[in-house]
Amino acid sequence: MSGPPAEVERDFSLARLTTVRTGGNAVWFARPKSTDDLSALLAWAGAEGISIGTIGSGSNLLVADDGFPGLALKLDGKLASVSHEGERLLCGGGARLPSAAAKAAGWGLSGLEFGVNIPGTVGGAVKMNANAYGGQLAEVLESVDVCTPAGRERRTPEQLGFSYRSSNLGEQEVVGFASFRLQPGDAEAIKATMAGMRERRHAAQPSGIKTFGSTFKNPEEERAEGRQLRREHRRGHDRRRSGADGCRAAAGARALRGGAGARGAAARRDRLARGLGSVRRALVVGIVLVALGAVVYWVAVRESTVEGHLRAPLATATIGSGSEAIAVGPRGEILVWLPVPEDAQLPELPISTPPKGGRLSGPVLEQALVLGAAPAKLRPYIESSYLGESGVDVKLRSGIELRFGDASQAALKWKAAAAVLADPAIEALDYVDLHAPRRPAFDGSGHTLPPLG
Ligand SMILES: Cc1cc2nc3c(=O)[nH]c(=O)nc-3n(C[C@H](O)[C@H](O)[C@H](O)COP(=O)(O)OP(=O)(O)OC[C@H]3O[C@@H](n4cnc5c(N)ncnc54)[C@H](O)[C@@H]3O)c2cc1C
Repeated sequence: MSGPPAEVERDFSLARLTTVRTGGNAVWFARPKSTDDLSALLAWAGAEGISIGTIGSGSNLLVADDGFPGLALKLDGKLASVSHEGERLLCGGGARLPSAAAKAAGWGLSGLEFGVNIPGTVGGAVKMNANAYGGQLAEVLESVDVCTPAGRERRTPEQLGFSYRSSNLGEQEVVGFASFRLQPGDAEAIKATMAGMRERRHAAQPSGIKTFGSTFKNPEEERAEGRQLRREHRRGHDRRRSGADGCRAAAGARALRGGAGARGAAARRDRLARGLGSVRRALVVGIVLVALGAVVYWVAVRESTVEGHLRAPLATATIGSGSEAIAVGPRGEILVWLPVPEDAQLPELPISTPPKGGRLSGPVLEQALVLGAAPAKLRPYIESSYLGESGVDVKLRSGIELRFGDASQAALKWKAAAAVLADPAIEALDYVDLHAPRRPAFDGSGHTLPPLG
C-alpha cells in the first residue's frame, strides 16, 4: 500500500462534522482545498481500493457508530468558495448554500433564495436534490463538475437523475464545483424575500434542535405519503439485507457507512417508519417532537440567560471554529444544538473537544465564566482568553490584555475594565489588572483602546 498524500489524517472523529453529532471515526480524513488536491486524494484512494465518503455540512448524514473505514473528505478553500461572472454563480461543492444564496443576493442575482434555509453545502444539496419553498435546485443549476478516482467530468442537471431528495451521484463521485444560472434582480428585494423565507421557517420549525430538518416527505409534494414511507423503508431493508454500502433512510438521511449507521438514531427512525401508516400519525409524532423541542429549548434558554428572563439563548464562546464551532453558554454550558454563525467571531476556548456531561470544568470553565460575564458593548472587542501567569487573561482585538485572575466578581471586574477603557485620559495601554476590581491597575502604551466613548 502506498502512503497517503501528506495532508491526510488518520482516525478522525466525524461526529463533530454532523448536525446530530453522533457516529465514529474515519480511518482516513482530508480537507482538499483545490481541484488538484481533490484529484490527488481520489487517485490515491482509487489506487488503494479505499472507499470515499464526502461530508458537506453533515445536516443529512448519519455516521455509523463503528466509524467509516475509508477516506472521508471535507471540501475546503477554493472548493468551498463562491464567486460570480455576470449572472453565473460558481460555487465550490463545500460552499454553504445559505452563504451562497446571501452572496448571490448581495450581487443582485435571484434564483437561489430558497437556499437560505437549507443548512447544507452546495455539493450536499446537489447530491440530495435539495429544495424549499417551491424553489428547485434543478431549475437554476447549470452544470456540476464531478470528480472521481478516474478523473473529472461536467454534468448537466438532466444527467444527474434528480428525484425526490436524491440524485444518481455515487459514493465515489464528489461534486467539486457547481455553476448556477441566475437572474438579475434588485438586491434589496431579493434580500427581503430571503428574510421572509427565514421568518416563515422560524415560525414553522423549532430551531437549535439536532434534527435532519423535515423527517418526512412533504405531503404536498406527494399525497401518497404512507406509500412513500413504506417504499423507503422497504428500500432500506433490502439494502441492509444485501449488505450494500449506502442506506437510504426513511428520513432521507444518508448513512456514511453500512445499514448499521449510528444504530440508535437509525433504529428509532426505522421503528417510526414501520409504525406510521398515515399522515395523521406522522402529525401526532411531529407535535410531540415540537413539544419536546420546546421544553428542551425552554430549559436551555433559562439555563443560559443571565437574569433568568426568557431570551434568545446566548453563545459567549466556542469550542473549535468555523463550520465546526460548538457554542458555549455564559455559564460554561455546552450548547451543541445551538448553531454558531460562521461570522460570529466569538472567542474560541483553548480545548479541542467538548467534555462529556454538557458542561465545562476546571480552568476552561473559569475562562468561559469570565467571557460569559462580559458586557454586550465589550463583547465585539474580545479576541480570546487563555491561562496567563496570574490566572485567566482576556485578550482584546487591539492587543490589550485584561487580567482577571479567576471568575470571581467577574461582572464587577468587567465593569472596572470598561471604566478604564472608556477613560478619555487614557490613549493606549498594554494591560489592565483586575484582581482587585475596585482598584484596577493598568500600564503600557502599546495598544490603542477600543472606541467605547
Ligand atoms: C434543520 C434542517 C432543515 C433542513 N431543511 C431542508 C429543506 O428545506 N430542504 C431540503 O431539501 N433539505 C433540508 N434539510 C436537509 C439537508 O440540509 C439537505 O439535504 C442538504 O442538502 C444536505 O447537505 P449537506 O451539505 O449537509 O450534506 P451532508 O449531510 O453532509 O451529506 C448528505 C449526502 O450528500 C453527500 N455529499 C455531501 N457533499 C457532497 C459533495 N461535495 N459531493 C458529493 N456528495 C456530497 C454526502 O456524502 C451524503 O451522501 C434540512 C436539514 C436540517 C438539519
